[in-house]
Amino acid sequence: MKAVCMGEMGFTAEIFNEAVYHLKLDGYHHPNIEDIIRRFDQIHKDPAVQYTSAQISESLYEENQRLKRIVKCSKCKINDSNALFLPCAHHVMCIAFAHDTKKCPVGNRGVSDGVRTFLG
Ligand SMILES: [Zn+2]
Ligand SMILES: [Zn+2]
Repeated sequence: MKAVCMGEMGFTAEIFNEAVYHLKLDGYHHPNIEDIIRRFDQIHKDPAVQYTSAQISESLYEENQRLKRIVKCSKCKINDSNALFLPCAHHVMCIAFAHDTKKCPVGNRGVSDGVRTFLG
């Protein structure tokens, strides 16, 4: 079995032994090949999982920064944004300034309508 794992699956002896060792710690005294492969995947994927979650927190941070910018009105920078431009659906201004806005400052697209928005 060890030879099969190492030969066909490209496992190194080190990883194979590590997988078997982990399985034995968990009480698998006679692990079958599926157990070993599953455990191998867990060992193998760990760094990838961390990498992915780091990416997620990075994009959450960016999302957060983006939301913070969006929350404040881009014109007066005092009021919270509470006007949604249509049809482009940008949300970058307070209603007081949105009333006089004919073109969306983000996409430079004509504003045909606006919707008052409420947070919460
Ligand atoms: Zn404003
Ligand atoms: Zn727009």
